[in-house]
Amino acid sequence: MPRKGPPQIGDIVEIHCSKCRLNLDASVAAIVGGEVVKVTCRTCDNEVPMRPPMDMGMKKEKALERLMKMRQKRLTGPATPVAAPDAVRALWDELTAKADPRRAKVYDRHRKYREEEVLLHKEHGMGVVHQVDADGELQVLFRHGFERLRSQVPPDEDE
Ligand SMILES: [Zn+2]
Repeated sequence: MPRKGPPQIGDIVEIHCSKCRLNLDASVAAIVGGEVVKVTCRTCDNEVPMRPPMDMGMKKEKALERLMKMRQKRLTGPATPVAAPDAVRALWDELTAKADPRRAKVYDRHRKYREEEVLLHKEHGMGVVHQVDADGELQVLFRHGFERLRSQVPPDEDE
């Protein structure tokens, strides 16, 4: 039966021990203005600040919530580039191995390209023209895979 009336030094109270990280019995060690401020944990014998017992169910829920947030972050966070299939990557390696990136021209949609020409794209990096379609659309092999780019766009056309 819990004793009624103001707390007194030596009273046994249930606390959440910050050292044991558990809800445990402790004896009241310090009282300020009728409020228990310090207790001595009966398990670890440390004098710890008075903390009411924690709702362990709630704690678990919080931990779970944190975990879900971390997972969410991983899923929606900075997109990790999709690993190019090995074959595409090997081909890109082979085709760009001889190319000098300093001599590769920055992609210009007004230009005319021929197959196997090396270009530099500000987003995709170095690429090799794989195919030029009749309408000037290019199929370019980049490190991560193929991209379609326009070429031979008339100079007066705005995009
Ligand atoms: Zn303790």
